Amino acid sequence: MPDFAELEQALKTRLADLTARAEGLEDDLRQPLDADWEEQAVDLADDEALAGVDEVLRQEIVQIRAALGRIANGTYGTCAVCGEDIDLGRLKARPIATRCIAHAA
Ligand SMILES: [Zn+2]
Repeated sequence: MPDFAELEQALKTRLADLTARAEGLEDDLRQPLDADWEEQAVDLADDEALAGVDEVLRQEIVQIRAALGRIANGTYGTCAVCGEDIDLGRLKARPIATRCIAHAA
């Protein structure tokens, strides 16, 4: 099995950056965090809170989390369609890829 440590680090760095941006957007959209009970309840549901964030940003966060999950469970780098290994060059260019070049949408 290939060593994905470098890609994992890149994904984590990207995720931290996106999460920071998402939180910044939420701060713009929302009153101070502990303004009232309802807002605290919203803050507890992390994914729900992201619903107010730009859709493109949210989608990428979801995809990166999924990619990190695949690295953790050993399914990363395998095409979701044919099960073949995804070319490492492709993964480096697009770490969130779930399909080989032949099956890319
Ligand atoms: Zn494939």
